[in-house]
Amino acid sequence: MFRSLHMKLVLVLVLLIISVMIVVGTFLINSVAEYNIDDFREQMSSVFTPELILTLEKHAAGEHGAVSVQEILEAYSTQLGIDSNRAFYVLDPFSGKYLSGSDDSLAGALEITPNIVSAISGEVGQDIRKLDGSFDVAIPLKDEAGEVRFIVGVRDNKAELNDLTWNLFSILMRAMFFGLIAAILLSILLSKTITTPIERLTSQASRIAAGDFGDKAQIYSTDEIGVLTETFNNMAEVLEHTLEEIDGERNKLDTLFRHMADGVAAFDADGALLHVNPAAEQMLGRSLSIGTPYEEIFPNLYIEKDDIESDGKFIEVDYSAGARMLKIFFAPLRLTETANGLMAVLHDITEQQKLDESRREFVANVSHELRTPLTNIKGYTDTLIESDDLDKDTEKRFLGVISGETDRMARIVKDLLTLTRLDYNRMEMSMEPTDLRAITLGIKEAMQIDAENHELTLTQELPDKLPAVMADKARIEQVITNIVSNAVKYNRPGGSVNISAAVSDAQVDIIVRDTGIGIPKEDLPRIFERFYRVDKARSRASGGTGLGLAISREIMLQHGGDILFDSVFGEGSTVTLRFPRADAKGEAK
Ligand code: ADP
Repeated sequence: MFRSLHMKLVLVLVLLIISVMIVVGTFLINSVAEYNIDDFREQMSSVFTPELILTLEKHAAGEHGAVSVQEILEAYSTQLGIDSNRAFYVLDPFSGKYLSGSDDSLAGALEITPNIVSAISGEVGQDIRKLDGSFDVAIPLKDEAGEVRFIVGVRDNKAELNDLTWNLFSILMRAMFFGLIAAILLSILLSKTITTPIERLTSQASRIAAGDFGDKAQIYSTDEIGVLTETFNNMAEVLEHTLEEIDGERNKLDTLFRHMADGVAAFDADGALLHVNPAAEQMLGRSLSIGTPYEEIFPNLYIEKDDIESDGKFIEVDYSAGARMLKIFFAPLRLTETANGLMAVLHDITEQQKLDESRREFVANVSHELRTPLTNIKGYTDTLIESDDLDKDTEKRFLGVISGETDRMARIVKDLLTLTRLDYNRMEMSMEPTDLRAITLGIKEAMQIDAENHELTLTQELPDKLPAVMADKARIEQVITNIVSNAVKYNRPGGSVNISAAVSDAQVDIIVRDTGIGIPKEDLPRIFERFYRVDKARSRASGGTGLGLAISREIMLQHGGDILFDSVFGEGSTVTLRFPRADAKGEAK
């Protein structure tokens, strides 16, 4: 099939051949005609010499002038080239009538040419070029008085020249025909050598446009197309490299965008969602599709575009999305030279707010816990100072109270310090393989008297041997003591406290079960909070600080273990201290 370039090449070559043929043909045909005419003129001038004309004039003066003239001319007929196409004639100068000649058929048909007219007026008529159908020459034969007696002439009907011209023309036409065929074939061949590599480049370019950088384009020649192919290959290589780099950057950004803790949502100039990351969706509590309008995502949060665009800064807004509290930073997002979108960066401050809240609560609790003993100390001290008549016993009792309250404050401060150290990981733990059985039995022995004082039965069901755990002995002693002591404190006379153990592949549990007062279900989740007490009066009376369980939990967590509190109000509680085994292969379950 002809492609555009094929067509153009064919057209160019065909036009070239045709124009060359026209130029050559015209030149050739003109030259042939010129040559013929020159030849005719030469023949005429070589025959019609002044001598011959004189001879002719002499014979013309005779009685049968015309016949004599004809006879002489007949003698010259070969030199004159007389044949069927060329004739000579003798004319009467007055009537222009044909008197005699080589072709009598001219008698009635001889036209009076401009040359004959010239001859009638006494001039030799030899202007050949002006004639169309024929060319001729006409010579006046004058008498002594200078009067024109006859006109002799030669007339060629140009048939030979026309034949020659026609032959030439047909040769040229044939040459043109073959030339055109050759041109078409050549142009197809030529265009093929040009277009094939271009076609290959085109299909290669289409493959690259579709993202396939596979094979390189083959270089077949060192000409301009070869150079173009090589340049194209280089360009494709650079492009592939650049695209890979861009892809890598995009992937990096995408990964960052997907996994960043902050939420990001970008909007175009019309407020339609362009990008959103999973964190933002999670914070807003819904999945968002691209194109969602701003007003639907942040209802009631109208941002004056000028506010952020005027100074190019961001604005900060607190926004509540369901149960979450968000801090949103809005900043302009440059999309094009003229259009600015909007970028929203979302921080989830729910936890931070809770933390702030619990800090405030903690400070309030500490103040409260310290104020109570301080008020007592102040009261008793003031009374002691102001009253002079107090008896010794009362004085002693007051001082005892002051001492007790001071101890309480000291305990609170000591526990707070312990917690702070645990919070900031400043509590040094000397971890070593520890026998929980020995520690627990020791604590049980120490607590025995206290239990009896509370009219409780303290029992143990520990196995003969417990697997070793990695622990700081002193801290673990502190934890177990606290748990057993709570089981004793928050118990009823006649009740019991039992210490047992459970061993599994990965962990060792020390379980302290009591038949005490228990904890209401709603209080259970808060039991490990600092200063949280269920039975406040009992806790105070027994010198509790409300920090024991919080400290125990922190210590257990720092041992890679856990503390579980289960309780039924009015029936008793079960506390499980879970330790990872020192010889365990896997993680504690
Ligand atoms: P406290 O110094 O007051 O004992 P803890 O942190 O050890 O502080 O305990 C917090 C609160 O949990 C206690 O005030 C008590 O109300 C409750 N509690 C702890 N252990 C038990 C238990 N075995 N039975 C019932 N209540 C308990």
